[in-house]
Amino acid sequence: MVHMSIVVPCFNESAVIDAFHRALVGVLGATGESFEICYVDDGSDDLTVDRLRQFAASDARVRYTSFSRNFGKESALLAGMRMARGAVVVLMDADLQHPPELVPRMLELHRHGYDQVVARRDRSGEGMVRRAFSQAYYRLVRHFMDVEIVDGAGDFRLLSRRAVDSVLSLPESNRFSKGLFSWIGFDTVSFTYENVQRAAGQSKWGGRRLLNYGIDGLLSFNSRPLRLAIHTGLWLFLSALGYALWIVANAVLNGVETPGYATLITAVVALSGVQLATLGIIGEYVGRIYHESKRRPHYVVRETDRGAAGAPRAPLESAGPARRER
Ligand code: UDP
Ligand code: MG
Repeated sequence: MVHMSIVVPCFNESAVIDAFHRALVGVLGATGESFEICYVDDGSDDLTVDRLRQFAASDARVRYTSFSRNFGKESALLAGMRMARGAVVVLMDADLQHPPELVPRMLELHRHGYDQVVARRDRSGEGMVRRAFSQAYYRLVRHFMDVEIVDGAGDFRLLSRRAVDSVLSLPESNRFSKGLFSWIGFDTVSFTYENVQRAAGQSKWGGRRLLNYGIDGLLSFNSRPLRLAIHTGLWLFLSALGYALWIVANAVLNGVETPGYATLITAVVALSGVQLATLGIIGEYVGRIYHESKRRPHYVVRETDRGAAGAPRAPLESAGPARRER
């Protein structure tokens, strides 16, 4: 059994993949442990797959899986973890933002008995706006979520075999891995490294994608937003009751006044706003249930280092009489 598997999701990374591969093999070779590198191509439309094919052809320690289209990083990580056979699995990005030189340090910490070793980046070199947003987000998440999510702790982490098996045993199809890693527990240790800019190529996370990812994170681990909707409804109901009583008392004590048109409009608009927002929240959960209930696979494989997925291994002649083409 190999000691260590490195799982690397790649989506259009042909600009950096060579430099990354060289750096990684150099570092891993120096550790003296046996290793394998499991690349997952997430439906790239550039030369990434060609590079992976070549790596695998020239080095038996390299394996790869290539998806039929872009399924997202979470699916790629899942495929990689399923592929990995090592006693220790390290997840890292292909853009050299997760420095390979840190892997030996992670291994060292694992030897001290930790099941999860997390390398957290600090936020140096990041724009003011993005930093402010992510800080606000993590504060919100800490408030709302049942699992703990740490700022800067991304997917650069080492997992022991039993930690990987626990993650793989979770059946949900909506996979927010930051939450899953925290949910499985086990002894976790983290250390901080200085944020590095991507070596080449482009980040795939625009503002909109990040926002959706954030909403996913908030919703996929609990139903507290629904609870919040109930609380808001209750408070509104109580204040409306108070206001109604006040109007009645006013009418009894001071006689009837002209009714307030502005108050009415405000109340109607505010209430419809709350109702729409609540409907939206419920809709999100219903959508998730719908999504889960379809039980679709997380990804479709186009090819692996052992050939095209689903293709017959043996030549056609030996597999009996050839079928007539339609
Ligand atoms: N990635 C992926 N599928 C996607 C988007 C990204 O496999 O749909 C991979 C990407 O190739 C890289 C890692 O996920 O190895 C992190 O992506 P990126 O560097 O774009 O994100 P950032 O570092 O900007 O958060
Ligand atoms: Mg990156």
